[in-house]
Amino acid sequence: MTATLVDGRAMGNAIRVELREEVKRYVQERGQAPGLVIVRVGGDAASGVYSKAILRIANDIGVTARLEQLPALTSSDELRSLLLHLNADDATQGIIVQMPLPGHLAQKMVVDTIAPEKDIDGISPQSAGNLFLGVPSFLPSTAAAVVEILERMHIPLEGKRVVILGRSNVVGKPLSLMLLQKHATVTICHSHTQNLRELTQQADILVAAVGRARMVTAELVRPGATVIDVGINALPEGGITGDVDMGSVSLVAGLLTPTPGGVGPLTNVMLLKQCVQAAWLHAGRETLQDPIEAEA
Ligand code: NAP
Repeated sequence: MTATLVDGRAMGNAIRVELREEVKRYVQERGQAPGLVIVRVGGDAASGVYSKAILRIANDIGVTARLEQLPALTSSDELRSLLLHLNADDATQGIIVQMPLPGHLAQKMVVDTIAPEKDIDGISPQSAGNLFLGVPSFLPSTAAAVVEILERMHIPLEGKRVVILGRSNVVGKPLSLMLLQKHATVTICHSHTQNLRELTQQADILVAAVGRARMVTAELVRPGATVIDVGINALPEGGITGDVDMGSVSLVAGLLTPTPGGVGPLTNVMLLKQCVQAAWLHAGRETLQDPIEAEA
């Protein structure tokens, strides 16, 4: 078998076309574009690339976006007061704070301060709690990207066995709840899991979100399974690779997302999609679409 490869860039472009139309409709009705602010404190080269990518997509679909670049030595009070200012700013409907923060700044302060209705990357306790309870919520964008791929590729979820490698708050945990809500039978694995291969071989859908280059080889994959590779690992020779060994797995899986070009290009698009949702919410014109049940 040779796996069908998901073209994440093409899928991302298709969603951008939909969002452009929606933003046009928003501007016609509201007289101004949705507003997004990315807050970055200090930051490395990777987070700079990430910010630029978000700004580019925002610009492409018509969302007004800007980067608030703060010095690495910004105090907790200064960051908090910027967030409070953005919470109160009518022109800002979506706020993202780039992680990781410098060591002297607590992520907890940030997640506790961002207004839940502007929390378009689903990091606040309220967003996480809503997801846990199965009510409409902003979602962590990478987990949302995985679900978007599964749905756009028409992969059945109800009653299917899903195995997720990784239990982080940004990918593994929220994804498990989203797929559970869609009636999949979900197993989460982590660094202490025993007999990993026994579990992964049963998966109709296998998601790798570990951060270990090419750890998922063909022996871990059930023939015909859908394999979603979330991992992004820098290669010593330059470039990136995923958690999935594409060479061997593509001969066994039914469907596979490549890295690069799979989940990655959709993540920022999902962030913008939730920004547009936040803008409609702010305008009081729509309730938050239930991203879990909407397409179930
Ligand atoms: P993370 O916070 O480091 O979590 C990694 C998870 O993998 C942990 O739960 C860890 O278990 C588990 N793990 C480690 N070794 C394992 C093993 N041998 N077998 C099974 N599980 C193992 O990472 P993350 O933030 O979730 O990111 C995961 C990967 O996705 C990274 O490569 C990251 O760069 C990538 N990523 C991609 C996107 C995108 O847009 N495509 C977005 C976010 C992240 P413990 O909990 O026991 O330590």
